[in-house]
Amino acid sequence: MRLVLLGPPGAGKGTQASKLSQLLTIPQLSTGDMLRAAVSEGTAIGQQAAEIMQRGELVPDQLVVGLIAERIGRSDAARGFILDGFPRTVAQAESLDEVLENQELDWVLELKVDEQYLLNRILGRAMQARESGAVVRADDNEGALSVRLTAYTDQTKPLTDYYAARGLLKTIDASQTVDRVTAALVGAIG
Ligand code: ADP
Repeated sequence: MRLVLLGPPGAGKGTQASKLSQLLTIPQLSTGDMLRAAVSEGTAIGQQAAEIMQRGELVPDQLVVGLIAERIGRSDAARGFILDGFPRTVAQAESLDEVLENQELDWVLELKVDEQYLLNRILGRAMQARESGAVVRADDNEGALSVRLTAYTDQTKPLTDYYAARGLLKTIDASQTVDRVTAALVGAIG
């Protein structure tokens, strides 16, 4: 099964992608995780991406398309995958179509939550991490978060129309508990 998870920052894409990955035994491919790993390893891609990510902006399309194309080509993704955080622009979605050639996506799952809820979720997550001594994401602060939300609204949200036109879009209410959202996702793809 080839799935895309779409949703604003803080909607729970990573949490749900990981749950679906276990349930369906297909890998979770997160461009955010790949980029954060590249930043902490100090690779050329990481060096290009670090400051952009810290500001909350999107990194250039060709950079993430290269990462994801390489990852989709590996053998563990042959049976399917869950894309978490990619595509994020219409240009990335078009590149994904090219990478997939004649393999079709099965579903694009949109996690929908209202904005006020997102701010509280992310700032709460950062505060908890800070208190427990865990690492706080460099972009989990009010300034970067508002840039991330604007990037979502302006650049990523238009993808819902792109995929709805192809009959691939399912929208899920992501303000429910984690388990209920997972159940709704499983129901949507069943
Ligand atoms: P969130 O959805 O909470 O913003 P992610 O981990 O998906 O978190 O992404 C973190 C950051 O990584 C983004 O703000 C952006 O800078 C970069 N990024 C991740 N995926 C992409 C992508 N597909 N295209 C461009 N930038 C990306």
